[in-house]
Amino acid sequence: MKKLFAVIGDPIAHSMSPAMHNDLFQTYGVDAHYQPLHVKRDSLKEALIGLKAIGIAGFNVTVPHKETIIPLLDKLDPLAEAIGAVNTVVNEDGEFVGYNTDGSGYLQGLLTQWPTIKGKNILIIGAGGAARAIYFTLAQAGVKRLDICNRTIQKAEELINDCPFHVPSAAIGKEEAEINLSDYHLLIQTTPMGMAPNIDSLPLSLHKLQTDALVSDIIYNPLETKILREARNKGAKIQNGLDMFVYQGALAFEKWTGIFPNIERMKNIVLNQLGG
Ligand code: NAP
Repeated sequence: MKKLFAVIGDPIAHSMSPAMHNDLFQTYGVDAHYQPLHVKRDSLKEALIGLKAIGIAGFNVTVPHKETIIPLLDKLDPLAEAIGAVNTVVNEDGEFVGYNTDGSGYLQGLLTQWPTIKGKNILIIGAGGAARAIYFTLAQAGVKRLDICNRTIQKAEELINDCPFHVPSAAIGKEEAEINLSDYHLLIQTTPMGMAPNIDSLPLSLHKLQTDALVSDIIYNPLETKILREARNKGAKIQNGLDMFVYQGALAFEKWTGIFPNIERMKNIVLNQLGG
């Protein structure tokens, strides 16, 4: 019988995941279908009961459910537990098991552009759910320094204190980050600044950016945000959020099927969805 997979979230209509995963099921001959499901914040518990009753094989979790789903799952992968967020669920013999592939998806995508992360000074801009997954993953990967610049400094401090993996870190504000920007080899932009409706906003000034730095934005729509455009104009290397998106999806697909899929194929599907 055809297996059912899904992505749950609110809003969900514009998710690129159904096109990406349905193409992969067809490509790899997996008899399955991936469905976007609109699940509102206060309907999550009932939705999970329904999904279990119909025997869903697995699903992705997006805003606003990544954190609130945790107490409703049967088991949790230790990294997802440490991060405090789940983006992938696998139905393992009738039990819903939660994983987080955002951080490892980000790291795998980063390594395709920037093979050496050891010994590097990194600044993460933002301290939300995505920043948390990326911080925990990079802290484990052994970078030299991992600072966080956030509008609400207290949230950055909490994130650093919550992380079980030690790395030299400071929670800083925008002004301090701008003054010391030349210290960083990599900037990772994780706020929604640069995405509609804030397409003309910059999270911080790049005045002191090193010209050989890499600026990585996890937004992929638009493919080039204002911060990436400014970094490119300064001669720095840039990376958009498409790599993270396809790698987190590839890692979820691997958990569901045992197959690690073709990344270029996934990128092309998303680029087609974005209008070429
Ligand atoms: P989130 O948990 O809501 O966190 C948002 C972060 O951005 C917070 O640190 C927040 O600061 C900051 N922020 C929001 N608006 C701001 C503003 N106007 N000025 C300054 N800072 C602002 O969101 P998230 O889940 O981490 O997602 C963040 C972004 O990543 C979204 O654009 C999402 O689409 C993207 N994303 C991409 C991928 C991918 O696969 N490429 C995966 C996940 C997420 P405060 O703490 O001060 O509120």
